[in-house]
Amino acid sequence: MMIDPFDRTVNYIRISVTDRCDFRCVYCMAENMTFLPKKDLLTLEELDRLASTFVELGVKKIRLTGGEPLVRRDIMTLFRSLGRHLQTGDLEELTVTTNGSQLERFSEELMQAGVRRINVSVDTLDKQKFERITRWGKYDKVMAGIAAAKSAGLKVKINAVALKGVNDVEFDHMIDWCGEQGFDLTLIETMPLGEIDEDRTDQYLPLSRVRADLEQRWTLVDLPDRTGGPARYVRIEETGGRLGFITPLTHNFCESCNRVRITCTGRMYMCLGQDDEADLCSPLRASEGNELLKEAILEGIGRKPKGHDFVIERRGDMPAVSRHMSVTGG
Ligand code: SAM
Ligand code: SF4
Repeated sequence: MMIDPFDRTVNYIRISVTDRCDFRCVYCMAENMTFLPKKDLLTLEELDRLASTFVELGVKKIRLTGGEPLVRRDIMTLFRSLGRHLQTGDLEELTVTTNGSQLERFSEELMQAGVRRINVSVDTLDKQKFERITRWGKYDKVMAGIAAAKSAGLKVKINAVALKGVNDVEFDHMIDWCGEQGFDLTLIETMPLGEIDEDRTDQYLPLSRVRADLEQRWTLVDLPDRTGGPARYVRIEETGGRLGFITPLTHNFCESCNRVRITCTGRMYMCLGQDDEADLCSPLRASEGNELLKEAILEGIGRKPKGHDFVIERRGDMPAVSRHMSVTGG
């Protein structure tokens, strides 16, 4: 078991399998991004060894993310190989966060690998707005991907970043749509991660305000569901759907934080909002056994900080940490 200095058990890892993406969402990336040279990435075999070592150390849930995880070549090989830990019961959940662009192709295979629930990021149901926010995204393709996921039997959760003056007029519509489709919906506050082309203070919309507004029209009943992360859930009486609010800028979830994040180059970030990290690539490559790797993981967990320091209003457009969300994964 991995227990950090604040007595929190770490049983959840998110792995960014690539920093590349086929979209350029305005809050996530600059249009002209420089990506890592492919040779710097861990191979799929190394990612499997790394993730499997975490499973040996007690990890119960793995989320593959990115960049766009489903654009990494042969990524289904990794899903399938990690799926073996679901069969033994050592792992409870294997899941993915995706922009949906490849779901028509991969939904069935994800299901076969043992994935049961996926998160798909959709910030708006307005085609033109969607293509403006994602810059390179194709709305119809994403909608077809979501339909494919649903018919493959995957449980879909829609993630939407709340953007002031952009999608804030649409949340009622999104709640209706998710209710009809049987999808959960989660709204996310923008986080100050990495340089983008725009000013983040212009985009920031506190979810406390969104919730107060939604309560004028919807009956929101608090749910006790906790994921160890910054999400709080309510049931929407009118649709029966679940709505989550992810408020990473507030501190009060850090006490229950159960996760670490790993980049595609094998660096472990113990907190999304801090720069401290541990190099897992060198010990991974230094020997064929996993002892050095385990030592490095446990040493890093021993440095997991108490909490983060995101304060968007104070920082203006300066990112709190310089790396983009696509490096550490959402
Ligand atoms: N490409 C996949 C996707 O979009 O779902 C996975 C990676 S993406 C970085 C993961 C999540 O992070 C997405 O839901 C995205 O909307 C969110 N995200 C990206 N940059 C963000 C930021 N600066 N603040 C808050 N959420 C962000
Ligand atoms: Fe790509 Fe996801 Fe970032 Fe959008 S949010 S640019 S889809 S990594």
